[in-house]
Amino acid sequence: MTTSHYIAGRWVEGQGSDCISVNDPALGQPFAELMAASVAQVDQAVTAARGALPAWKNTSASERATYLRGFAEQLGQRREALITLQMRNNGKPRHEAEIDLDDAITTFSYYAELAEQLPSKNRDVPLAAPGFTARTRLEPVGVVGLIVPWNFPLVTSAWKLAPALAAGCTVVLKPSEVTPLIEQAYGQIADALGLPAGVLNIVNGKAETGAALSNHNGLDKLSFTGSNSVGSQVMRSASAQCRPVTLELGGKSAIVVFDDCDVDQAVEWIVAGITWNAGQMCSATSRLLVQDGIADALLTRLQAALENLRVGNPLTEEVDMGPLTSQAQWLKVASYFATAREEGLQCLAGGKALDRDGWFVSPTLYADVPKDSRLWTEEIFGPVLCARRFATEEQAIAEANDSRFGLVATVCSADLERAERVADALEVGHVWINSVQAVFVETSWGGTKGSGIGRELGPWGLSAYQSVKHVTRCLG
Ligand code: NAD
Repeated sequence: MTTSHYIAGRWVEGQGSDCISVNDPALGQPFAELMAASVAQVDQAVTAARGALPAWKNTSASERATYLRGFAEQLGQRREALITLQMRNNGKPRHEAEIDLDDAITTFSYYAELAEQLPSKNRDVPLAAPGFTARTRLEPVGVVGLIVPWNFPLVTSAWKLAPALAAGCTVVLKPSEVTPLIEQAYGQIADALGLPAGVLNIVNGKAETGAALSNHNGLDKLSFTGSNSVGSQVMRSASAQCRPVTLELGGKSAIVVFDDCDVDQAVEWIVAGITWNAGQMCSATSRLLVQDGIADALLTRLQAALENLRVGNPLTEEVDMGPLTSQAQWLKVASYFATAREEGLQCLAGGKALDRDGWFVSPTLYADVPKDSRLWTEEIFGPVLCARRFATEEQAIAEANDSRFGLVATVCSADLERAERVADALEVGHVWINSVQAVFVETSWGGTKGSGIGRELGPWGLSAYQSVKHVTRCLG
C-alpha cells in the first residue's frame, strides 16, 4: 500500500472505496496498491488550493520562476528512478522514458523563463481616444483542476502544472489510475522545494475521483487530457457551472507520403509514428495515405520493418516496443483485431496478441482499408496502422481531412513547396513535414474538430491559465 495523496502540503492515506492496482504490463501483474482519494479528500484538496491562492498569486513572477527551475532540477536528480518507474508501469522502452523525462524538465525550465517575462506583459495600452489611459494586467485564472491520462503521465502533467504555477494559479492534479505513482514525484519535489502548502495538491483515483474534481464548484477552470467520452462529461460539468475548460482529446491522424519520397526514410517515419509508446499516442499517425507510384514498394518494406521490430519487456530485454500499458487497452486493441477479421481487412503484419505473459500485441498493418471501416475512422490507441492509396494531392488532402478528429498530421515529400501547401490545407493543430512526433516546448499543442479545445505549450499554454484585465483611467 502506498500513501499517495498530497493535500495541503501533507501526504495522506486514501479514504475512498476503490483499491487501485499498479501493474507491470510486461508481466501482467501488480507491483503496488493504493486506496483512491474519497470525494471528501478531493474537497479538502480544492479547499487547500483555494486557501493558498491569495498568497501564491501575489508572489513575484521571479519567485515562481525559481520554484519552476527547482522542479526542473529536482526531476533531473530523480532521473533513474523516474525512468525505471515509467519502464515498469508504462512499459516504455528506456530511450522513450528518457525522452519523457527530458521533455518534463524542459517544460519547467521554459515556463520559468516565461514567468520571468511576465512583468513586461503588464503594460500600458495606447488609446486613440484622448483623456484616458489604459493598462493590461495578466492575472491567474485561479484554482485549476488538472485531469490527465496514463500514456505520457510525467509529460502531460508537466505541460499543465508548469504553466499553471507560472501564471500564479494553484492546482489540484488527478493522475490516471493506471499510472498513479509517477506524478507523486511532483509532490515530493514540492516538499523538497518548500512550495507553500496547498499550491500543488495531488489526488489519485478512478472516474469517481475525477468526477468529484471536475464537478467541484470551487474550481475556476478545468484542464483535461484524455478520451473524447470522458472529455464530453468534463465539458458538461464545466458548462453546468459556466467555467472555462481546456480539452486535449483523441486523434486519428494521417501521415501522407508522396511518391517523390525516399522509401526507406518514409518507412522509418511511418513506423515511429505508429509504434512509439506502442502506438498509445493521441498523436499516433495511424492512417497512412501513400501515393500510387510507391505504394507497393513502400507497403512491402513497411511490412518487413514492422515484423522486424523487437517487442518485449523493456526492463529485461533490448526492445523497440514494449507492451500496452493496461489490460483494458490490450483487450480494446484485441477487439479491433477481431473487427478487422470480421470486416475482412487485408492484414500485412501482426493483427494478433503475442503468445506470452503480459499485455503485448504485434505491430500491425492493414492495407487498402475501406474508408468506412471502423479501423480507419476510430481511435484504436495501439500499434495498428491502416493504409490507403491516393493518386493526387487534392485526393490526399480530402482523405486526410475526412475525420471527426483534427489533432496532427505528417507530410512526407521531397517537394517542399508542395509539402508546405498540403500542411496549410490540413485541418489539424500541428503538422510535421519530413519528421515525425517532434514536439518542441515553444510550439503549440492541441487539436481542431473533435480533438479538443484550447492549446498547450508555448505562450498559448501559459495564456490558458491567465485572465486578461484592463484598467482604464479617465484623466479628466
Ligand atoms: P480517459 O478519458 O479514460 O481518462 C483520462 C483521465 O480522466 C483519467 O485520469 C481518468 O481517471 C479520468 N476520468 C475518468 N472518468 C472520469 C469522469 N467521469 N470525470 C472526470 N475524470 C474522469 O483517457 P485515458 O484512457 O486515460 O487516455 C487515453 C485517451 O487520452 C486517448 O483518447 C488519447 O487520445 C487521449 N490523449 C490526448 C492527448 C492530447 O494531447 N490530445 C494526450 C494524451 C492522451
